[in-house]
Amino acid sequence: MKLRSYACGRWFEAKGGFVDVRSAIDGHVVAQVSSEGLDFAAVLDHARNVGGPALRRMTFHERADLVKRLALHLAERKQKFYDLSFDTGATQKDCFVDIDGGIMTLFSFASKGRRELPNSRVAIDGALEPLSKGGRFVGRHILTPLQGVAIQINAYNFPCWGMLEKLAPAIIAGVPVIAKPATPSAYVAYAVFEEIVRSGIFPEGSVQFVAGGLGDTLDRLTGQDVVSFTGSRGTSSKLQAVRAIGENAVRFIAEQDSLNASILGPDAAPGTPEFDLYVKEIVRELTAKAGQRCTCIRRAIVPRAFIDDVERALIERLGKVVVGDPHAEGVTMGALVSLAQRADVRARVAELASEATIVYGDPMHVAAVGGSDAEGAFMSPIVLRCDRPLEAARVHDVEAFGPVTTLMPFDSVADAIAIANRGEGSLVASIFSYDGHAADEIVLGIGSYHGRVLVVDRDCAKEQTGHGSPLAPLVHGGPGRAGGGEEMGGVRGVFHYMQRTAVQGSPQRLATVTGQWNPGAAEQKTEHHPFERPFESLTVGETFYTGTREITLADIEHFAEFTGDRFYAHMDEAAAKTSPFFDGRVAHGYLLLSFAAGLFVKSELGPVLANYGIEGLRFVKPVYPGDTLHVRLAVKEKAPRKPEYGEVRWSVTLFNQDDDVVAQYDLLTMNATAAHVPVLGEAVAAS
Ligand code: NAP
Repeated sequence: MKLRSYACGRWFEAKGGFVDVRSAIDGHVVAQVSSEGLDFAAVLDHARNVGGPALRRMTFHERADLVKRLALHLAERKQKFYDLSFDTGATQKDCFVDIDGGIMTLFSFASKGRRELPNSRVAIDGALEPLSKGGRFVGRHILTPLQGVAIQINAYNFPCWGMLEKLAPAIIAGVPVIAKPATPSAYVAYAVFEEIVRSGIFPEGSVQFVAGGLGDTLDRLTGQDVVSFTGSRGTSSKLQAVRAIGENAVRFIAEQDSLNASILGPDAAPGTPEFDLYVKEIVRELTAKAGQRCTCIRRAIVPRAFIDDVERALIERLGKVVVGDPHAEGVTMGALVSLAQRADVRARVAELASEATIVYGDPMHVAAVGGSDAEGAFMSPIVLRCDRPLEAARVHDVEAFGPVTTLMPFDSVADAIAIANRGEGSLVASIFSYDGHAADEIVLGIGSYHGRVLVVDRDCAKEQTGHGSPLAPLVHGGPGRAGGGEEMGGVRGVFHYMQRTAVQGSPQRLATVTGQWNPGAAEQKTEHHPFERPFESLTVGETFYTGTREITLADIEHFAEFTGDRFYAHMDEAAAKTSPFFDGRVAHGYLLLSFAAGLFVKSELGPVLANYGIEGLRFVKPVYPGDTLHVRLAVKEKAPRKPEYGEVRWSVTLFNQDDDVVAQYDLLTMNATAAHVPVLGEAVAAS
């Protein structure tokens, strides 16, 4: 099968220069890859001039919907990807992480995009900043999509997940993608991409695919482009050295190799649950994807007193691992991606062996079930042991990207921290300990060197997701040699493809730019209570002023008796006066909220379906008996949720009789759309 590139709205087949990609299992040629003859300038232009504008015309929610539709489309066709993946050496379990994991990542991004980003084309970061005394000049950070293209270069180990976890945030951000898979597993990424194209979900020019080299693409990048790279440190450094990338300050997000550490706590002696969990986790990490995971435990750091026990337990468990063709019955670990990769791992093991002793496995031979280790890239799990890790260098620096780990003893918690940090930055480190004090010390001691720290003990053992599994909303990426930056999950991953800009101006200007009303911006006063009107008829910036209510001492006492909140500032004049904030007894803040609700809530059945929270509540000024309240209810922001209803964010301001603000908050409600306003006796159907 000759893999084609998808460029400028059509499939492109190279005329020559093909590289054979062989099966990891038996060496047959699975695919041929080349991008020779592709016009990379045209590919970039197409993304920038066709894809980018089309995406930027859409809102975050619309783009998140595309990602969700893609997830549904791929989920229905995933068997095809499974069938192809076995040739990469992956077992069924490995495929699950790559394929189902990739699809789940799309769902997760889509849902976070809808829930955490506005239904508009600009995102807001942080609160409105007052910049002048009179409140007529304010500032705010906004995020808008870069107007270039995201070049997404992926590693070979997760051809589906790797491509989708990069594609989703860029698309939601509004930036077109050029995806470049790693050659050794490009046929899996190709099959997924064929489906992306076939689905017709994405606007023209927003996704393109290069099978093979990128030609002069990187030389043509500008400051509006992003390179998102996953792979080895060597390749990453080479690409970052491309002149245009440095000169034009092109954003370069790197996820690169990582000498991840896992520390067994000083308390976790043989026989404790943490000891067993630790051994199990190392074996899982070594064998999953034949150790070709960026999060694999490369350094197992254990108390010196337990190192022999850990070694014995590992040897016993690893003895049960069955290496071979993933199709064969009973196989628990597949192959490395290629013979070349195995040769590389063998060479790295030889380097490690100059400072450590191999205590399990023969790097040069393994009995592979259903295959031969001459034709297939099979390899035994390898455990090394380095007894003086603080005096060694290679064990902290050489990444053997296969089923390889090194055991290292420590004598004190401080040593364990020092050894872990010798990796100079990693994606993930883990701690297996039930000693809270030691675990806390290690977390603080290693935090700045790691993108993620997993702390496992008997309390979370059943639910913890493992060393290798970040959850989509969490950081994926690490400092130092792991890439330097942070590749984020969730909404912050989307922000990587956007520019944060401080906008200054009048409250009205900021309101129209951001699509969010704020006090100080123009008000469209309405007499028709907004709680009586369906979602569509509400306009951002519309305000409604309620009637008034006097607060009496009797109200305060009644509320105190009724709720049990007899705080002295409400009940005792002399005690209240001792406070630097009060001149005497004051009304409860919660009483004010309740009276505010009493002033604006409608009792009749209507479009407001539920109140689901309050945010940013501040009591600004005390309210004393005899003060009179009134409330301004303003439509601050709207976000459609389902055909039946949408979310309304109300800016609620409580004033006293002098028009001083006494309290301010955002109220969140779900409001029915016109066709779904509830009617007595009829249940509202939810889709
Ligand atoms: P690699 O050899 O560095 O290749 C990575 C990607 O770079 C591939 O797509 C490769 O394409 C591309 N590439 C190489 N030279 C290029 C050039 N001159 N211009 C443009 N693209 C170029 O890494 P790999 O062997 O695929 O993956 C294994 C490595 O990835 C390991 O070191 C592992 O630790 C790391 N990794 C890290 C993470 C993480 O999240 N930190 C995740 C997964 C893997 P070709 O294949 O076509 O050359």
